[in-house]
Amino acid sequence: MEDGAGGGRPSEVENRKGRGRRAFRFAPRDLLVYASSSSIRGVLERLLSLLDPNDARPVIPLAHGDPSAFPCFRTTPVAEEAIVSAVRSGEHNRYAPTVGLPSARRAVAEYLSRDVPYKVSPDDIFLTAGCCQAIGVVLSVLGRPGSNILLPRPGYPFYEGRAAFDGLEVRHFDLLPDKGWEVDLDAVEALADENTTALVVINPGNPTGSVLSYEHLKRVAETARKLGIMVIADEVYAHLAFGNNPFVSMGAFGSIVPVLTLGSISKRWVVPGWRLGWIVAHDTNGVLKETQIIEGIKGFLNISTDPATFIQGALPHILENTKEEFFNKTISLLRETADMCYTQIKEIDCLACPHEPEGSMFVMVKLNPAYLVDILDDDDFCNKLAKEESNWLRVTFAIDPCSLQDGLSRVKSFCQRHAKKAESFTSKEETNTTLPLCYTNMW
Ligand SMILES: *Cc1c(COP(=O)(O)O)cnc(C)c1O
Repeated sequence: MEDGAGGGRPSEVENRKGRGRRAFRFAPRDLLVYASSSSIRGVLERLLSLLDPNDARPVIPLAHGDPSAFPCFRTTPVAEEAIVSAVRSGEHNRYAPTVGLPSARRAVAEYLSRDVPYKVSPDDIFLTAGCCQAIGVVLSVLGRPGSNILLPRPGYPFYEGRAAFDGLEVRHFDLLPDKGWEVDLDAVEALADENTTALVVINPGNPTGSVLSYEHLKRVAETARKLGIMVIADEVYAHLAFGNNPFVSMGAFGSIVPVLTLGSISKRWVVPGWRLGWIVAHDTNGVLKETQIIEGIKGFLNISTDPATFIQGALPHILENTKEEFFNKTISLLRETADMCYTQIKEIDCLACPHEPEGSMFVMVKLNPAYLVDILDDDDFCNKLAKEESNWLRVTFAIDPCSLQDGLSRVKSFCQRHAKKAESFTSKEETNTTLPLCYTNMW
C-alpha cells in the first residue's frame, strides 16, 4: 500500500512497448520522486541548471548552508589532526558496533552533558552518518501505518521527504515571524490526535535564524506532554547563537517529556562532509524504553550503514580538544555577516526581514512582489521564486564577508532593475544579474 495502488509497477503493456526488448518488470518506488524533489539538494540542482553559462561572474551561493569552501570558515586544525591520527593509529580499520564506538558515545555524552541539568549516559547516544541519517532513523522508527508527525513551517524539507518515504502523514504548524519564529502552540494542539507521534523543533532555526528562549522551549515540552507525544529537537546548529538568547538544549526538558535531540559535527565544526552525527535520548522517566522506541532505534541501526569508524575514533579528540577560540571566531564571523545581511536587505524595497537572525546560518526574507514589475522574462529562476513558491526566501549568511557583500549588491541591483518605479534604474550592464542567490523555501 505504501506506494499507492498498483505498487508503482509499470503495466506489462507499457513495459513491452516498442524496442522489441524483453519485458523487465522492475521500477523504482513512486514515492522517491516526491521525496527527493522536496529536498534542498533537489531544489539546488534545479536552480543550478538555470544559470547562464555565459555569465562570467562568480556564483554567490546564498542558498545552501555549507560554508566549508571558504577559507575563513575552515575547520580547526585540532579536528584535522584528530582524523589523521585516528587513521594512522591503525585501530580504526574495523567495523564499529552499530550504535557507535563506545569511546565516541562516551565523548558525545560528556560533551552534551554540559547543556543539560543532569548527566547524559553513553547508552543514550546513537551515532549516525550526520544529522540527516539521524532524522532518517527516527522517522523510520516512528513511521507506523496511520501515524502522523507535526513539522514546522517554514522548516527543513528533508523531514518532509523522509516522512513521505516512511509513510508518516505530515501536519504542519506555523512558526510565527512576528514572535521571533516561535512555535504556534495553539496550532500544535489543534493538529494533534491519537495518531500523532512527535513534534519537530529546529533550534537554532533553519531557515528562520531564530534562537528559541528557555521559556518557550519549556512551553513546547509541556504542550507535547499534554498531547502525549515526544519532541524531536534538531540541534544541528547547537551553540551557533549570536543574538540575545543563548542556545538552550531541548534535552533540558527531558524530565517533562521524552525528547530525542539530533545533532552532528557538520555545522559547528564546519565539516559537513565528514558525516558524523547523533541521536540522543533525553528521557529521565524512561518512556522511550518503555514504549520500545530505543529498541526500534537500535534495530534500525542494525540494518543501516554506520559512520566511518576512523571518524568515530577521532571524535573524542575533536570534542574534547577544540579550543574556544575556534568557536568564538566562527560566531563572530556569523554575527558580522548576519548583521550585514540584515541591514542591507532592509534597504531593498521589495524585501523585508521580519526578524533579525540570531543563530544558525540563515535568515528568512520576505519578498513583496507588489514592488516589482513582472520579472519572468530574463530569468526562469526568478519566475519560480516569485510565482511557484510562496514569497519567502531563505538566505544564508555563512559565506565570506566579501562574497556576501557582492551577492547582496547583486540582489539589490536586481530588485532595483525590476522595481516598479523607473527612477531606480541603473546602468544596463549592471542589470544582467543571474540570481543564483537564494531560493524560495518550501512552505
Ligand atoms: C544541515 C542540517 C542537517 C543535516 O546535517 P548533517 O549533519 O550534515 O547531516 C539537519 N538538519 C538541519 C536543520 C540542517 O540545517
